[in-house]
Amino acid sequence: MTVTLPGRPTALPPLPAARQVAEAARRRGAALDADGAFPDQEIVALHHAGLMAAPLDWLRQGEAGAATLAGVLCAIGAGSLPLGRVYEGHVNALGLLHRLGGAPQRALLEPEIRAGRLFGVWNTDDRAAPLRLERRGTGGILRGRKILASGAGWVERPLVTAATPEGAVMVLPHLRQGERADLSSWQASGMRASATGAVDLDGIELSEGEILGAPGDYLRQPYFSSGHWRCLAVQTGGMAELLSLLRTHLVGAGRDGDAQQRARVADCAIALETARLWVDRAARMAAEPLEDEAEALVAYVNLARGAVERGAARMIEDVQRSVGLAGLMRPHPIERLSRDLGTYLRQPAPDYALQSGAAHVLGQPGW
Ligand SMILES: Cc1cc2nc3c(=O)[nH]c(=O)nc-3n(C[C@H](O)[C@H](O)[C@H](O)COP(=O)(O)OP(=O)(O)OC[C@H]3O[C@@H](n4cnc5c(N)ncnc54)[C@H](O)[C@@H]3O)c2cc1C
Repeated sequence: MTVTLPGRPTALPPLPAARQVAEAARRRGAALDADGAFPDQEIVALHHAGLMAAPLDWLRQGEAGAATLAGVLCAIGAGSLPLGRVYEGHVNALGLLHRLGGAPQRALLEPEIRAGRLFGVWNTDDRAAPLRLERRGTGGILRGRKILASGAGWVERPLVTAATPEGAVMVLPHLRQGERADLSSWQASGMRASATGAVDLDGIELSEGEILGAPGDYLRQPYFSSGHWRCLAVQTGGMAELLSLLRTHLVGAGRDGDAQQRARVADCAIALETARLWVDRAARMAAEPLEDEAEALVAYVNLARGAVERGAARMIEDVQRSVGLAGLMRPHPIERLSRDLGTYLRQPAPDYALQSGAAHVLGQPGW
């Protein structure tokens, strides 16, 4: 199965289209809960629904586009967190291309996006062989590899960071499906279908259109930190799914009238809505960041990370208490979703994110 099939976009608006793909992903969730699995058919379905290229339009629509993207990410995350992770990486790459791409990059890459090619963002380096770029004229050649790369073996246009003497640059090498990827180290308890692994990029030659931005652009604030809201939107979708599964279980088991169960359902609903509100505001703030509000935006998204992480972790605990042993038994979807969400919640430097958010609040009387 290839993810670059040409397809006719459906006429559905983005949110119903995303829900339709999410429903298909939900149905295949148990089958894809295996090492080395990947939601390839769902990526094709996203392309046929027009959702692989649509972010290019949403990125031009300011807050309205960000709200659409937030809804779509949340809907897809509810159907499948691995699919949501992979789609979020694709959207991240499109955002960087939209913000930093010049004529050579757009001419090369936009037709690929419209044809349904899967992109991703791979930043994490293997300490033993961190990726670097040797410049050759207007192009260059890559040395080294990346690890913890979602969609390894499937993403055909990863946006990867590569060191140069002037600082890290972004490059978009062309890969063929199945080549250079090693998924053997991805033995995580959850997110098994995200195909997160190592990719050897050594020796790949790059043209001018495959090199993006200037050294240091990838980590430039407020864009780098504030973009984390998209990951939170996917996680919020997972939270919504968990609450929905809890409801189905309690009602089905005739345990929905119990006071303790209701108290936990209330806590879960509060956690979900809290996450939604943080994500919604973070998405709107990040859509068109003002220069003098950059620090406030970064702090807001860092605090949003804490809100979603705590709410989701607490929700997993509450749901497991409410459902009991059945929720820890395969193939119950709550068992898989708890593993997927628990794994996906592990994002870089959560303590630092909270501390820097707190430092901003402490510096702002009346925050
Ligand atoms: C499903 C999944 C898919 C992923 N896909 C990709 C991808 O496509 N591309 C990519 O680039 N990456 C990807 N990653 C990797 C991701 O970006 C992070 O690198 C990874 O999740 C970091 O998790 P961690 O818990 O090891 O973080 P850490 O930052 O190591 O945090 C672990 C703990 O250590 C603390 N800590 C952090 N730094 C310090 C320090 N200096 N001193 C003391 N304590 C510290 C943290 O606060 C936390 O308590 C993926 C991760 C997951 C889970």
